[in-house]
Amino acid sequence: MTTLVYGLGESGVAATRALTKRGERVLVADGSDDERLRDTLAALDVPGVLEAGPDVLDGIDRMIASPGVSPRNPVLRAAGARGIPIVSEVGLGLELLGEDARVAAVTGTNGKTTVVDMLHHMLEASSVQHAVAGNSWRTLTGCLEEACTARLLVLEISSFQLHYLQNPGFEVAALLNVRPDHLNWHESFEEYIDDKLRIFDRQRAEDLALASAGDPIGRAAIDTSGAEALVVGEGDTALRNGRLLLRGSHLADVNELRFAGTHNHENALFAAAAAQRLGAELGDIREALLGYESRPHRMRVALMRSGVTYVDDSKATNPAAVAAALASLDVPVVLILGGSEKGTDFSEILPGLGVCRAVVCQGEAGPRIAAYLEAGGFQDVVHRTPDLKKAVERATEIARPGDVVLLSPGCASFDQFPGYAERGDAFIEFAGHHRKVGR
Ligand code: ADP
Repeated sequence: MTTLVYGLGESGVAATRALTKRGERVLVADGSDDERLRDTLAALDVPGVLEAGPDVLDGIDRMIASPGVSPRNPVLRAAGARGIPIVSEVGLGLELLGEDARVAAVTGTNGKTTVVDMLHHMLEASSVQHAVAGNSWRTLTGCLEEACTARLLVLEISSFQLHYLQNPGFEVAALLNVRPDHLNWHESFEEYIDDKLRIFDRQRAEDLALASAGDPIGRAAIDTSGAEALVVGEGDTALRNGRLLLRGSHLADVNELRFAGTHNHENALFAAAAAQRLGAELGDIREALLGYESRPHRMRVALMRSGVTYVDDSKATNPAAVAAALASLDVPVVLILGGSEKGTDFSEILPGLGVCRAVVCQGEAGPRIAAYLEAGGFQDVVHRTPDLKKAVERATEIARPGDVVLLSPGCASFDQFPGYAERGDAFIEFAGHHRKVGR
């Protein structure tokens, strides 16, 4: 059997190594051709084709598709038409791990990394051996040995990785929320929803399915999943009078926590419910929560200057994350929006804009977002700047002591930066340099 690994990014490389280690015949290919790809190919020491077209499928029995490649890519379309099975890198990893591995999988439009990170801290606090992989963590095929030894895998899984996943059957499956995003990759919002809902496929009665009370899509899906359904934010697993309750047990008072925002309290409940099911003790879960601090670029206070707090939420790459950020602040906000253009609908942020003293729209998507907000009646607060540097300058001029300057762009960063982390770092640097005129 010959497997084609298509897409020579990190996951393609890891998948190739995992397959060759098992003595399988592999051909690697990528639709582009540049120096990095040539170096990658040379280091792999397997046959490879760059600038590959559909011909590369001749003699191929199955294909591993990189999450970066859209299903509308001509090679993937041709593979579908020829009936060649397509597997995601995560799908391959799960197959190689075998049926016995226990898997807790987390997906959702926003909060995946945070929930997986919280869950990891809770399991660690309770000495439950586990490995963490997927999406923003390590590639699964790159840490199979560790995952095999731990026998418990905590997997962050994106809609791209779910798209080609067959029969998952996860012991714990959490769908945090489903909001419009990545519509440049998926054919439609409906396809995106279908992919997210695959997380519950093949769960058994003894498994656990988690969804949010605030998310009608997940909420409806878990009732028919076949597993035990737990709705976070409802009944006795919810935030009640400032207290986080897990199945009726008191976990923490929110004012004891080092992170803020209703969305993060919900994330904490998802993580706690999963951790408890995987064997963590309630006391350890509580201890992990009390010590937990948000990861960089997610609602992190970056700097305080002249009475103004600069908050870096660069990881907010869709409007739902911006809405969550605005809902967690109760002081006047100077919001910086914009970045690369995905054509996303920004209506979700409108109800939260009441807290904004100003909204500075910048970057490739800036003019479209500004025009949209102006048409929605926010013309008095909208400002336009060409890029992030100028946006921070403008925000600094506008902000008054006690305000928050919030970078929660609602867009990806690729118009100006290689990634959200570089954009967040640049925000912090610009904020440190710009001074108010006349001070
Ligand atoms: P993901 O891994 O799904 O991208 P992250 O945990 O990295 O999620 O957070 C991404 C962005 O979404 C951040 O701006 C964060 O503040 C915001 N966010 C986190 N959890 C939620 C949630 N449950 N609902 C809405 N926004 C959230």
